[in-house]
Amino acid sequence: MLPTPTPTPTLPLFLFVALLFAGCQADTAPGAATAPAAAPVDSATIDRHLTELASDRYGGRLPFSPGEALTLDYLEAQLKALGLAPGNGTSYRQEVPMVEITGHPDETITLDLPGGEVDWTLGTDYITFSERAEERTAVENAEVVFAGFGIVAPEYGWDDYAGLDVAGKTVVVMVNDPGYYLEDSTLFNGSTMTYYGRYTYKFEEAARQGAAACLVIHETGAAGYPWFVVQSSWTGARLGLADDAQPKVDVAGWITLDAARKLFTHSGVENVRWFEAAASPDFDPIPLNTTLTTAVRNDLRFDKSYNIIAELPGRERPDEHVIYTAHWDHIGTGPAVDGDSIYNGALDNASGVAQLLAMAEALTQLEERPERSIDFLFVTAEEQGLWGSAYYVNNPIFPLSKTVANINIDGVNPIGPAADLTITGMGHSEMDDIATAAAERQGRYVQGGQEPEKGYFYRSDHFNFAKKGVPVLYADGGYEHQTLGKEYAQQQKDDFVATRYHQPADEYTSGAWPLGGAVQDAELMLDIGLQLANSERWPKWRTSSEFYAER
Ligand SMILES: [Zn+2]
Repeated sequence: MLPTPTPTPTLPLFLFVALLFAGCQADTAPGAATAPAAAPVDSATIDRHLTELASDRYGGRLPFSPGEALTLDYLEAQLKALGLAPGNGTSYRQEVPMVEITGHPDETITLDLPGGEVDWTLGTDYITFSERAEERTAVENAEVVFAGFGIVAPEYGWDDYAGLDVAGKTVVVMVNDPGYYLEDSTLFNGSTMTYYGRYTYKFEEAARQGAAACLVIHETGAAGYPWFVVQSSWTGARLGLADDAQPKVDVAGWITLDAARKLFTHSGVENVRWFEAAASPDFDPIPLNTTLTTAVRNDLRFDKSYNIIAELPGRERPDEHVIYTAHWDHIGTGPAVDGDSIYNGALDNASGVAQLLAMAEALTQLEERPERSIDFLFVTAEEQGLWGSAYYVNNPIFPLSKTVANINIDGVNPIGPAADLTITGMGHSEMDDIATAAAERQGRYVQGGQEPEKGYFYRSDHFNFAKKGVPVLYADGGYEHQTLGKEYAQQQKDDFVATRYHQPADEYTSGAWPLGGAVQDAELMLDIGLQLANSERWPKWRTSSEFYAER
């Protein structure tokens, strides 16, 4: 998953028997067919692929590195050996043109305000960057406006830009959404962050409104991570799509809470309780009586990476697709820790790739192919911005309107069979119901994401499908180990985050983890995929979801 520590364990319960029964129990949903069970998933298969992909030879699977070529060759060979069809015409590959941008922003920003001059220092007070693949982007004398949360959300009756023309201006906005600030469960999704709360949304909306620059005010609780994460994430080389069609502001960035306070205090605007005002539905944007001038110089390097896609063609409705995803990339090499500089990304996400390969193998053993096509999409460049999946949904091989659902895997449950199935982003769509039925067939209970305020739903590849209106499932077990309980599971998660997440110690040797949980989840996701692939059902978004309108 994307940076900002999170664990992803989950686990198994398994049950071949449960799957046998799965075929016999009618799903209560209209249109659900009786799905044939896939062959059981073999933990030895997961172990074999995981051992291979997490080995040092792959060098941490960084896009453009020799590790990429090895990974792509390995995936292609495995999929071919399984007899799966190439997913992109005659090819298993989808080219993803990318650009590496190394930004050099101005070192200081001076604001001439009614209450005096305010100087901001790069790194300490602000971080700016450009997501445009251009050698220099800049804003000059752009009027600065406080636009509250910078949100336009018709389904919540919210429009921070109403009556405001921000063309060519700099908007300053708050991170997260009003529900979080007011701890009001009736506003947006209460403390659970909606997409409107993510900084990526803020930049996108500001660009749609025609703003020249957008600065997000950082606050640790609301953002879900401290300032140093902002600093490190936006310093140095970053990857992006070479021909990203999305509108982008000239200069994007973050400012600290302190920098924002200075700006407000010196603006000459009196008697405003800024954040409270922004959280009111009656909020009107507030001009800050100053202008911003700043520039970012970019070093650009263009290169190509690849998504890998294979298909089990549907026997009756091959033009309708259920798409599984798992990102094959990780972060390569980096600073040595205890003499080890290879960031193997065993859990993140060699494990998910291994699990998906094992699932593909189980599906190839079906006596009869499913009615709809099932696709296995291994995407690139997840770690630095979900780029491979973003490219896919912008350049879909199969129309998104014919894509029934996306089921995404980012890290397996490495601790053994789980009592739970934890759905990150529960409440968005009917995929919850389908997953719940499948979990019950395994004797598991279902719960929503355990840290919803951190926005994990927006931090892996399924999110790009959601944004385009394709219903998604991002779920695994592992918050309660089947026999060792919740505390044990939590301790394992905490230990992973503290000692292995995005570190060289995220490694694997054959047999190192009990894979019963990965098997359990694999069989559950196969069950779900087959339910969908053998029905005429199109799962719907709930009307309360921010993705409802897109479908
Ligand atoms: Zn990941």
